Amino acid sequence: MAKSPEEEHPHKAFGWAAKDTSGILSPFHFSRRDNGVEDVTIKILYCGVCHSDLHAAKNEWGFSRYPMVPGHEIVGLVTKTGSNVMKFKVDDRVGVGVMVNSCKSCEYCHQDLENYCPQMIFTYNALNHDGTKTYGGYSNTIVVDQHFVVRIPDSMPSDGCAPLLCAGITVYSPMKYYGMTEPGKHLGIVGLGGLGHVAVKIGKAFGLKVTVISSSSRKEREALDRLGADSFLVSNDPAKMKAAFGTMDYIIDTVSAVHALAPYLSLLKTNGKLVTLGLPEKPLELPIFPLVLGRKLVGGSDVGGMKETQEMLDFCAKHNIAADVEVIQMDQINTAMERLAKSDVRYRFVIDVANSLAQSQL
Ligand code: NAP
Ligand code: ZN
Ligand code: ZN
Repeated sequence: MAKSPEEEHPHKAFGWAAKDTSGILSPFHFSRRDNGVEDVTIKILYCGVCHSDLHAAKNEWGFSRYPMVPGHEIVGLVTKTGSNVMKFKVDDRVGVGVMVNSCKSCEYCHQDLENYCPQMIFTYNALNHDGTKTYGGYSNTIVVDQHFVVRIPDSMPSDGCAPLLCAGITVYSPMKYYGMTEPGKHLGIVGLGGLGHVAVKIGKAFGLKVTVISSSSRKEREALDRLGADSFLVSNDPAKMKAAFGTMDYIIDTVSAVHALAPYLSLLKTNGKLVTLGLPEKPLELPIFPLVLGRKLVGGSDVGGMKETQEMLDFCAKHNIAADVEVIQMDQINTAMERLAKSDVRYRFVIDVANSLAQSQL
């Protein structure tokens, strides 16, 4: 008979898990494997709350495994290293993002694109090579192969850095790959949430003109004054949208729900590029005429490889970029998830994992 989550590995672990499709999280005891020769054991300090955690906790994509400990924006301290680990030592501050392993031998792994490896293993809601389940960062500790661990630059705050491990690399990678970094070009960012607000900061650091395209005017002042966007468009204001037709070189679409692409494609110039990053539960409709008549391109992108993740962190450190966070305790996670579902977060919830779990275990 299969062992229980608490008994399958030798080391006790504690976190919060979703137990069913309600997505409601509650305390959960499980276990972590022994630290292998290639492994790093990490005491988790902070973990960001990505909208993907919400999609997964509620089984919106249809492949959730319960109990599920979400969390793939992890910052922590190294507590143990395997004998082959030279890059990290005890007490180093490190990060783990959306993946914890891959095959290490396919064409994608060889090109530092582990994120596209057919055998890539997600940080949670997946199976390890040994068949046991992966559990994510809403927990006190994690054991990860060193290749999937990155170094946190010294100047970065641990809480504000955590969201970069997913949101940061998810917007940085397509900007590099699709050539959306030419200074002076005009970037539109649809959806000012976790991904969107980091995209504003990274876009400005590349020297772009950045326009936020949001579903309401609620975030306008902050977008312009605090995040540094150059302009702000409300997507349901037809007159302003029309005035902006054909003005943008690039668009990054981070909307988490099903939505129409046509209004955003109209904002692009000829030869413009729109990259969709959001993962709504149902397909979007793709209007062909604007693509054909304007030689426009629509693409997608899935986080980024490990080498590029480190590059992104170093880039953000150099440009003083961190996420704007609302730090919460673990027992506030269900309220935070409800607010995230309503786009009511400025701009990423980050769980103070170490302090809140230490207290709840007393
Ligand atoms: P988030 O913080 O909830 O931000 C999404 C934003 O989209 C909201 O703040 C809101 O911005 C806008 N939005 C939400 N519902 C909308 C609707 N019905 N119509 C128009 N706009 C709407 O989420 P996130 O963490 O940034 O993640 C965004 C999406 O990317 C999720 O689907 C997530 O699963 C996905 N994701 C993909 C990758 C990848 O590798 N491709 C990585 C991470 C996350 P406004 O208030 O400004 O309208
Ligand atoms: Zn994520
Ligand atoms: Zn591979």
